[in-house]
Amino acid sequence: MQIEARNAGRCYGDQWAIRNISLRIPSHEPLLLLGSSGGGKSTLLRLLAGLEIPQEGQILVDGNPLSANESDLRTHRRRLGFVFQDGNLFPHLNAEENITLPLIRAHGFSRSDAKTRAHTLLERFQLLSHIRHRPSELSGGQRQRVALARAMGHDPEILVLDEPTSALDPEMTGEVMDALETIRGSGKTLVLATHATGFARHLGGQVAFLQNHRLHWMGATRQFFDAPPTEESRTYLSRIHREES
Ligand code: ADP
Ligand code: MG
Repeated sequence: MQIEARNAGRCYGDQWAIRNISLRIPSHEPLLLLGSSGGGKSTLLRLLAGLEIPQEGQILVDGNPLSANESDLRTHRRRLGFVFQDGNLFPHLNAEENITLPLIRAHGFSRSDAKTRAHTLLERFQLLSHIRHRPSELSGGQRQRVALARAMGHDPEILVLDEPTSALDPEMTGEVMDALETIRGSGKTLVLATHATGFARHLGGQVAFLQNHRLHWMGATRQFFDAPPTEESRTYLSRIHREES
C-alpha cells in the first residue's frame, strides 16, 4: 500500500496548520514526523490516514486520489492501525475486549477468531496476565501496549502513531518502544510523530521535519541526527537535547 501527500494543505479557520506538503510514506521503513509543537505533525498524520481531508492538494492511495466521500475514507482508515497519545482505549472494556470489539464490528471477524487474535497479540506484548483488566487497572505503559495490540489486530501494513509515548514516564516509554521495535521487525511500516528523538534515531528510516507548517526537510534519519542538514534542524535538535538533560 502506498500513501502520498501531494501539495497537501489544511487550515483551521484562517490559519494554515500545514501547507503545500508533498511526501510519500516509504514502504517497509519508518517515517518519523519531527518538528516543534504546533508545527502540523498531527494534522499531517490525520490527512495521510484519511481522518480529515485537505483543503488544498491531494492524498493519493496507490496512485489514486482519496475522495472526500465518507465511505471511501472509512475504507482507507480500516486498512491502517492507529495509536494516539493517550491510547484511546474504551474505558468500560477489558484488554481483550478492547481488541476484539473493533475486529468484530469493523473488520468482520467472528467472535472466536477475534478472541484467538487478541490472545496472540496480548501474548506478544506480554499482557496475557492482564487480559481481564480494564484501562483504569493498567499502567500507562500497559495501556499503550494494549493500544498497540489493538492497532495490530487486523494486521495492517501501516501503523499511524501520534506521540504514543509522550504521556509516559521513561521506564514505560522503554516498554512501548520495545513493543514498537518488535512491530517494525515484523515488516510493518510505522508512521510516527514523536518528540522521543533518541528512539527516533534508533528506529532509522526517514525523517520528515516540519517547520512553520511546511515540510522543511525530508531524508535519511541517520543524516538528520548525525549531520543536521539545516540551521532550523540544528536549532530544533539542540532545543530537544536541552529539554532532555
Ligand atoms: P503538532 O502535532 O505538530 O503539534 P498540530 O497538527 O496539532 O501540530 O497543529 C498545527 C496547527 O493547527 C496548530 O496551530 C494548531 O493549533 C492548529 N490545529 C490543529 N488541529 C486543530 C483543530 N482541530 N482546530 C483548530 N486548530 C487546529
Ligand atoms: Mg501533535
